[in-house]
Amino acid sequence: MNDEPYFYHPLENIEDIDEFEAAVERTQFNKALSPERPYTYWTLELYDQENGIRGGGGLGVLAADTRRVAEQMGVPFVLITPFYPSESKQVMQNGHVSDEHLPVDYHDFGFRLVDNVYVKCCGNLCKLDVVEKRFRNTRIVCVTEPNFGELYSGMSGSDHRLYQEVSLGFGGYAALKLLGLKPAIMQLNEVATFFAALARLDELASNGMDFYEAVVYTRKHTLYTNHTLVQAAEAEFSEEQFERFVYPNLKSPAVKKWMRDKFENGRLKLSSVTIEIAELRSGVSKLHARVANYRDISGNKVKFRAVTNGVDLEKWVLPEILTFYRKYDIIDNIGLPTPGFRDALENLSSEKIREFKRAGREILNSVLADRPDQNGQILHFSDEDFIFDFKRRFVDYKRPDLAFRDLNRLKKILKERDAHYIIAGRIHTGDSVMGAKLDKLLADVESDEFLNTHVHYLANYDEELAFGLSCGSNVAINVPIVGLEACGTSWMKDVANLNLLISTHDGGVADVSAENYLNVHGVNEDEELEELYRRMEEAISAWENDFDLEFLLQKQLAAFLPVISGARMMKDYLDYLFPA
Ligand SMILES: *Cc1c(COP(=O)(O)O)cnc(C)c1O
Repeated sequence: MNDEPYFYHPLENIEDIDEFEAAVERTQFNKALSPERPYTYWTLELYDQENGIRGGGGLGVLAADTRRVAEQMGVPFVLITPFYPSESKQVMQNGHVSDEHLPVDYHDFGFRLVDNVYVKCCGNLCKLDVVEKRFRNTRIVCVTEPNFGELYSGMSGSDHRLYQEVSLGFGGYAALKLLGLKPAIMQLNEVATFFAALARLDELASNGMDFYEAVVYTRKHTLYTNHTLVQAAEAEFSEEQFERFVYPNLKSPAVKKWMRDKFENGRLKLSSVTIEIAELRSGVSKLHARVANYRDISGNKVKFRAVTNGVDLEKWVLPEILTFYRKYDIIDNIGLPTPGFRDALENLSSEKIREFKRAGREILNSVLADRPDQNGQILHFSDEDFIFDFKRRFVDYKRPDLAFRDLNRLKKILKERDAHYIIAGRIHTGDSVMGAKLDKLLADVESDEFLNTHVHYLANYDEELAFGLSCGSNVAINVPIVGLEACGTSWMKDVANLNLLISTHDGGVADVSAENYLNVHGVNEDEELEELYRRMEEAISAWENDFDLEFLLQKQLAAFLPVISGARMMKDYLDYLFPA
């Protein structure tokens, strides 16, 4: 960790916007970044309910946290994303999960209409509203229109998705011009945002810059952040779709030709062109950056710089714990661990841990007050209750059902401590395979009287529930199939809020060595399952012993705090984008 304070000074002290902008000028990036030449971040998904935008999962939460840490660090930053006029919410009905669709209005969340921009699609001029919301040195700029649809509506190679992606790219780029903003850097959060970089290339090439110079310039200022492990899984678009949605928006014949040449047998994967247009490329954990298997157009393996995701500690940490981190100089005023943070962790006593857990449990109970479980029960936990949680999207590779493979064993573990096991996770809309898996799991649970009152499924997993569980439960379970999680951020919230982490060695967890948390490993799933059960027993007994509890939680935090700090993530991006 760098001893020098990375940024200038505590933002809490800045009331006045002029003073604030003067402070921004003083940053070491004052040449590269300014309010008019900001860091721009492009994403199809933003998960920021406070600002009216609800995403699907980790990708959107990451985008929201990135803007928040940029704000705390005084980085001039603009996030460009669609405002979806409709969003889905999952509800339990007769024991099954189903989707509800609700309209959302940007006026209700403090966005102001700036003006309109247009994109050309299928021979029509499509009018988009540009709306923005400002937060000191950062802004959220959105494009939207009444028929924009929902996040991830339709199949990933469909016309509607392409329309949304083209609207964000070309419409968003035009929106920045309207606002008088010139991107110093364009960070593309996954390949669906490729069209933003294409819009820039087209603008440069059609305004007199030599085509090759325009390519070089665009490449040097574009960062592609990959979250996916294999290129093969990506959807393709056809040239015929590009004829209708993309080419009409291009002014430069050279760019149009460049684009046409990228098709193979009339098909195109956006990753192949995103790699071409972005010289800077990052993966979201050390392991992911190493194993992501992508090839460029010449067939060479693409190198990704590892910038492990982090979370905004201000947002995700229980206020009492955050105050403790600050009071003992564990983190500094922008959320970076201090050089001496490991020694300072000695102040984390078991009495403090238990005090924080009581405060966290109160928050959890208030979050649960209007969220019945699968049996329609409202849950309320006492300070003595013991809670395991599994909270993450309900997808196969995360193995939400792993602990349920041996019901007798699970029951024995829970029964000895009268412990509860909470599952919260969204099923991807239309994923009938996972829907059936959940039905089976709940039927198994229902068939046993003890399990039926100690295993709880909560529908509509969202930020509030993520926060409530991470500060109110005792143990978090994270068991993706090793090699399939790019990073994961749910477990970061648990570590920051002093839950014991039981995890396989994957994603961002594998940034540190496996002895720093309750690791689950095995040469096959049976071995992993056995280890999971043993770790659950170990976690229960650790919470019963002050010395073990202190030891394990101090060790966990000592290893992970630099990993999970969102400010560390932003610092890593800035170091990569603007090398000294
Ligand atoms: C933190 C968070 C996520 C991230 O989940 P991972 O599976 O760890 O990537 C997803 N959804 C919500 C609502 C969250 O708060």
